[in-house]
Amino acid sequence: MLSLKLPESETQRQAALDDQELLDTPADPYLDTIVRVVRDLFSVQTVLVSLVDRNRQWFKSRIGLDVAETPRSISFCDQAIKSPDMFVVNDAHSDPRFNDNPLVTDNPYVRFYAGQPLFSDEGQALGTLCLIDSSPKQLSLSEMQLLKDMATLAEGYLKLRRVSHQTEQLRAALSREQRKAMLDPLTQLWNRAGLEHFLALEQQTAHDRGAYLGVLFCDLDRFKQVNDTHGHDAGDQVLWQTARRIAAAVRPNDIVTRNGGEEFVVLTLVNDVHELEQIAERIRSKVGDSHFTLEQTELPLTISIGCALTCESETGHEAMKRADRALYQAKNKGRDRVEIADRLKPDASC
Ligand code: GH3
Ligand code: MG
Ligand code: MG
Repeated sequence: MLSLKLPESETQRQAALDDQELLDTPADPYLDTIVRVVRDLFSVQTVLVSLVDRNRQWFKSRIGLDVAETPRSISFCDQAIKSPDMFVVNDAHSDPRFNDNPLVTDNPYVRFYAGQPLFSDEGQALGTLCLIDSSPKQLSLSEMQLLKDMATLAEGYLKLRRVSHQTEQLRAALSREQRKAMLDPLTQLWNRAGLEHFLALEQQTAHDRGAYLGVLFCDLDRFKQVNDTHGHDAGDQVLWQTARRIAAAVRPNDIVTRNGGEEFVVLTLVNDVHELEQIAERIRSKVGDSHFTLEQTELPLTISIGCALTCESETGHEAMKRADRALYQAKNKGRDRVEIADRLKPDASC
């Protein structure tokens, strides 16, 4: 096995990675789309946007792998970032650097690996866009070019993201340790503590912009049956996929959280209740319009949503309670539907 030898520029590299404010942040719909497309293009089991951190590699985006991070000491990506070129292992069994690596001898039984480094503006390798499969494989020259092109898209996105408003907000408001404690490891969304944190922030932002804070309570319908029929792991897969679908249905600056169990809460800034309803309907159809694909089976699933606009005169928590009651009505009226909370006063706009 390879020993972990840190290159001299490691301090600058780590500083560049830390400066991105990327580690321990929620999954991102754009990068999720890239990994999904890359998996289809190359017909491999796993595709990752992997960031090489101090002692671990942490996956900003992943498809085909159920863990959020693995130790750096056994990481293929750690080798890949040591050179600017693509790093390819066609068959780990016949490669003395990797044939005793626990990722090769044990789950996920890596045989093939190809990683294209992703660079920061300063030219520091932050991690890779990588392909993994449990069968040996070779890439043609045109396939290698394709992987490089997809890595360029991922890299370009990371650069744009760095200057976006939300990154600034994260930088100002949360330390990395706080952020880590606010991330739900199962879905890679903000958890309930994250919801609490952003509820106050978003209400202030709404006030500053003369907009309304919209709260959407989204709860999968009859989810218990998925666990009972297909097992808890299948249930977890459904929660992962639901998180991806909700995040893909909302707008880039909306906050998507898992409030617990199979309940997701979205915070969004809107001008009126119609805009809020449109977002809710987009989530409902994104979840309900196509089957969920699990290892053994395909499942039709639906989601019920309760929404409320936060009034100036109430707290975010009070609006959450109204959204929760609207969700309860959506369930009672037959599920797979959106219900808007009653207005606080008949003549009020929220
Ligand atoms: P409804 O349409 O009324 O919402 O019905 P439901 O079955 O979706 O809701 P219920 O509250 O009866 O069941 C929720 C289930 O979610 C029960 C619980 O075991 C399961 N659950 C909660 N957290 C997790 C989790 O992290 N993973 C998995 N697989 N299941 C979970
Ligand atoms: Mg439910
Ligand atoms: Mg529930």
